[in-house]
Amino acid sequence: MDAYESDRKEMTRRQIAARGLRDPRLLAAFESVPRHLFVPEEYRQRSYADGPLPIGYGQTISQPYIVALMTHLLELTGRERVLEVGTGSGYQAAILSRLAAEVHTVEIVPELFAQAERTLSELGCANVHSHLADGSLGWTAAAPYDGILVTAAAPSAPRALLDQLAEGGRLVLPVGGLGYQELEIWRKENEEFKRKSSLGVAFVPLRGEYGWK
Ligand code: SAH
Repeated sequence: MDAYESDRKEMTRRQIAARGLRDPRLLAAFESVPRHLFVPEEYRQRSYADGPLPIGYGQTISQPYIVALMTHLLELTGRERVLEVGTGSGYQAAILSRLAAEVHTVEIVPELFAQAERTLSELGCANVHSHLADGSLGWTAAAPYDGILVTAAAPSAPRALLDQLAEGGRLVLPVGGLGYQELEIWRKENEEFKRKSSLGVAFVPLRGEYGWK
């Protein structure tokens, strides 16, 4: 129980369930993860609002619905090993920790990495492993992954990430120019990759080897 419990229930109902994402496991994850602990003090009052918020270093914590949609697209059953590129606040990783067996999350900004690691361990997300590195290269030490989520905008789907997908695995990422992208879903089937596009989104740019220079 915490002061934001009813805000969190309302966020889950109005922003996620009412927009068509109704998987009970997904909704339970959003009802249980205290989003306000991932938001800087000054924006805490707005933690459960229907939009992104600044987390410092020019980065943002994504809108709850977008976190939910990207998680939904991974089709997690609870047995998967998942990689997230772009830890940011750690909120998306905490959601994934409730829905997958093992989560690896990679962040390139040292201060965000340190802060997120602290928050995640305080919350007892023991199946989340945080790494400070260029996540556009993936995280080979724990590959292959059943799901890979990129929470920053890439010029195109990084080859390194496709190579780290397990058979049947899914890569979900925003692809496109600065300021506007489309969510893409890549699926590896019989050693081939199939791509689908989902809705338009606006993410901060992916940096690093396969990111924007
Ligand atoms: N998923 C986050 C929001 C991410 S914002 C959350 O739930 O709060 C995008 C993040 O991607 C930023 O923190 C940014 O620093 C990080 N990032 C950008 N390029 C990266 C790269 N090549 N490797 C790892 N992280 C990267």
